[in-house]
Amino acid sequence: MAKHRLIVIPPPFQGHMTPMLQLATILHSKGFSITVAHTNFNSPDPTNYPDDFTFLPFYDGLSDSCTLSPKNVIQISKTLNINCVTPVKELLLRIMDENKENQEEKILCVIYDGLMHFVDSVARELNLPTILFRTTCATNFLSYHSLPTLQTNGYLPLQDSSCVCMEMVEGLEPLRYRDLPIFNMGESATDTMVKQAAISLSVKPSLGVIFNTIEFLEASSLQKLRNLYKIGVFPIGPLHMLTPPSSQKQDNSSMTTTTSLMKEDYSCITWLNEQEPGSVLYVSLGSIASWNERELIEVAHGLANSEQRFLWVIRPETIKSIPEEVKSLAREKGRIVKWAPQREVLAHSAVGGFWSHCGWNSTLESVCFGVPMMCQPCFGDQRVNARLASHVWKVGIDCSEMRIGREEVEGAVRRMMVSWEGKEMRERAVLMKDKIRVGVRDQDALNALVHAIIMSTC
Ligand code: UDP
Repeated sequence: MAKHRLIVIPPPFQGHMTPMLQLATILHSKGFSITVAHTNFNSPDPTNYPDDFTFLPFYDGLSDSCTLSPKNVIQISKTLNINCVTPVKELLLRIMDENKENQEEKILCVIYDGLMHFVDSVARELNLPTILFRTTCATNFLSYHSLPTLQTNGYLPLQDSSCVCMEMVEGLEPLRYRDLPIFNMGESATDTMVKQAAISLSVKPSLGVIFNTIEFLEASSLQKLRNLYKIGVFPIGPLHMLTPPSSQKQDNSSMTTTTSLMKEDYSCITWLNEQEPGSVLYVSLGSIASWNERELIEVAHGLANSEQRFLWVIRPETIKSIPEEVKSLAREKGRIVKWAPQREVLAHSAVGGFWSHCGWNSTLESVCFGVPMMCQPCFGDQRVNARLASHVWKVGIDCSEMRIGREEVEGAVRRMMVSWEGKEMRERAVLMKDKIRVGVRDQDALNALVHAIIMSTC
């Protein structure tokens, strides 16, 4: 096959960059050339990818001092959708112009992340086919369809005090109102989110939509989306399991290409090697959410009082310095790192539980490695993922209502690590891991995607 080119456009967020670059690596192994068009802010490290990947930065207008938080992610996305229109158009035009004599380098299509929806109209203007990549689960995206009606019917904003909180949302069962991605957001943030969701729903890429999921995990939501969309819906995932080993450029300690924007601390793997099987709780809130200083202290006490071993990620940008009290409580049974090689951690036999914010990547990684979760969603789609893990797949303890206090933490950690309930979850998680491993052998969706891309030239 001629090496036709695909342009992939991720936003500068770890949880979105990772699956997009995994997808690009998979498509590269299918014979496509890859150009990664990316923002200057949080740019990926080209040395982690195949040598013939091309990385092209574009102007994003974000300041160097920009830091991510649950509150500003939507605002940053909005800014990118305004600032990057012209830079991305110019970049695409430049690639098209440079390759106009070379049919083999022709752009076959542009794959963009749902948060970068402006790309669709830019690419269409240039007559380039488009594919939308949604990095949240299919069930979360399905829930967007209910938001306009909820607003019209006066249900929004949804708060703890809303009387419908615990009721199921019609058509989205078993999601309750409190599991929706707009729960507890406040009036203006809810409004922004509903508008963003409406834009997301209105974008209709020409070739289809990719979800980082697998039929077995979300069959009913995928079917509903197929009925709603008249274009292809491609569940291709879990992407980290499909990323080909041949693309590995890491040292031997890494099992898949690293897509990390931060330096991973491998010393924690050496520490895990010294721990008993299933004895360690891994604690991480991903790349955006965080606990404040008071909560860190309560978590440290709760972990120490539970007498369980733990590996805890505390990102440096979330706290000026880790309080001495936390460090000293962690000294005996724990280990704190700034950023972990998470997939290696979850694959390690010493890890018996994951206290997670339930970002979709973390959720997928956890179920793929057979690790049960303490599900503590912080914002957005994490509520939906937590509901799937705890209620549908039954491999997670629902901690979404848990107050961050030392007694509550101690109780939840013991429930996860030493109770019968936790043990049963661990057993179910292992069965689920095996089922996923069987499921990923079915490459129909990936083959259909490759076919759709190739046929777009005809
Ligand atoms: N991650 C990591 N090391 C850490 C914490 C997180 O490599 O110490 C990775 C994790 O494996 C996942 C991503 O960062 O792939 C986080 O994505 P997710 O969707 O779970 O959450 P987000 O960061 O978007 O909230």
